[in-house]
Amino acid sequence: MITRIASAAGPEDCQIMIPGMINAHSHVFQRGLLGRTQRFQRPEDDFWSWRSEMYRAADTLTPERQESVAYHTFRDMISKGYTTVCEFHYTHGATQMDHGEMPLLMAEAVLRGAQRAGIRIRLLPVCYQRAGFGQPSLLPRQRSFGLTTNVYLSLVHHLATESERTSLQSIGYAPHSLRAVGRDALMAILDHRNRHDPDAPIHIHIAEQVREVNECVLSTRKRPVEYLMDTVALDTSWCLVHATHATDKERAVLAERKIPVCLCPTTEGDLGDGFFPLTEFMRDGGLWCIGSDANICLDPSEELRMLDWQQRLRLRKRNAFQFDSTLSASTRLYLKALEGGRQAAALPVGRIEPGFQADVMELRQDISLSNGLSPDETLAAWIYSGDSSFLGRRWIQGQEHIDTRPLS
Ligand SMILES: [Zn+2]
Repeated sequence: MITRIASAAGPEDCQIMIPGMINAHSHVFQRGLLGRTQRFQRPEDDFWSWRSEMYRAADTLTPERQESVAYHTFRDMISKGYTTVCEFHYTHGATQMDHGEMPLLMAEAVLRGAQRAGIRIRLLPVCYQRAGFGQPSLLPRQRSFGLTTNVYLSLVHHLATESERTSLQSIGYAPHSLRAVGRDALMAILDHRNRHDPDAPIHIHIAEQVREVNECVLSTRKRPVEYLMDTVALDTSWCLVHATHATDKERAVLAERKIPVCLCPTTEGDLGDGFFPLTEFMRDGGLWCIGSDANICLDPSEELRMLDWQQRLRLRKRNAFQFDSTLSASTRLYLKALEGGRQAAALPVGRIEPGFQADVMELRQDISLSNGLSPDETLAAWIYSGDSSFLGRRWIQGQEHIDTRPLS
């Protein structure tokens, strides 16, 4: 924990230190799909056909494989600049074994992978119960995600109690989406949270795909964000993942209530989801964070660069956010992503201030690329080039993180 900020003795002692980035949305097992989903079978291939490949990957997971993919992926996230991850975990492994311990073994495998990698984690076990709006159950291919409400809540409860042992690990709640969780289960999850862990965050996928929005309207007569607002007390403990197809009115309410939206531009781009109008959302004071989601890309600089360039391309202007000249766009976006990520993770991270965790990293000024650049310009050079050689030493919870990856 940072207790005090001291002045440097002189300029020679100065280094640029920035908070490590918070990855507010990850499905670590999807790293195993890397390179396998870019061959298209049909002209109309989309999110839903990608999902079939994802089911195949989930079906092969055992606790050992889960731990391995978690360890390698989290380690690579740290090397690229993330120090905290919110892991949206739904591979409960129900197809692998019949006995009731399997979901716990799979969740513990993710936590062990995170511990070995050294990353701070908010594990969000996921409740996933049906194939879609109005469907009574899961598809056979989705069986490994399914838990009854009681099993789900006892899993969360058990993990939350266990995780009190380590300050790098904490637990939250994640109803997968409105299409996968019905009203009764949603209310039971909220009731459990309010009684047992009222500070725990709740994350949900929402309004990512037009088809999902249309199915929600057909089933409930409301759009997903609208339905959620009318059904639960939507407050700052929520994080809405994607919200790509929220309406102007819905986005304005989210902005006003300071409910963070998690944007995952590399994944949303890969899946052809659509653009989130971040310029308008920020103009309304909206809070947002970034997530690596499908983990094709583990680099926060790339997510931020893509967010900025999406808006520049969409609006055909460079200053898409009406920033003034006191700081570069990248510094402002980095600070905004930290602010939203801190709230989404519900952890004291993302600031270099007393009372916050010492999760920091050095931006190098001793490389030729940063020669003559101010700290603000050095951050801009990293974000817009994506060149990891800007990243120097890093610390998580005050411990220096030593990169154990083999040299390539
Ligand atoms: Zn996701």
